[in-house]
Amino acid sequence: MIDVTVPGFGRLALTDLVCDFNGTLARDGKMLDQARLLLPGIARVVDIRIVTGNTFGSASEELRDCPCEVVLLRAKSQARAKKSLVERIGREHVVAIGNGRNDRLMLKTAALGIGVIGDEGLAREAAQACDVITRRIDEALALLLEPRRLIATLRG
Ligand SMILES: [Mg+2]
Repeated sequence: MIDVTVPGFGRLALTDLVCDFNGTLARDGKMLDQARLLLPGIARVVDIRIVTGNTFGSASEELRDCPCEVVLLRAKSQARAKKSLVERIGREHVVAIGNGRNDRLMLKTAALGIGVIGDEGLAREAAQACDVITRRIDEALALLLEPRRLIATLRG
């Protein structure tokens, strides 16, 4: 669990990560090296679910050795499906990471939403829905391993 109290923002007691795949953890369907390197360490502190429309059909294979659950979504209403997953887990315990417009609802619903610009860019509505924006996935994941950085960014 990640347990951190941010002055003016509140306490974050995070047990679960819900993370978008393409554009966030992967580029053109291929998992990014930094993500592959950092996810095992993240899995020691939170349960990881990776949500994807599987645009490139590669998610299950790319994530085979990753200590996470892969949640495949149907093409229709992915934004609502991602949000529903966060709600089923319990929004107050979830950190969500994403980049696309269809990540906006889960980023807003989760206790902590992190937007990643990455190689595909961060959709405007997703950017407006999250609490923190990072340039790359390794920076987003590092915030979870170094919560003092979160305090510095989010404190009132
Ligand atoms: Mg994406």
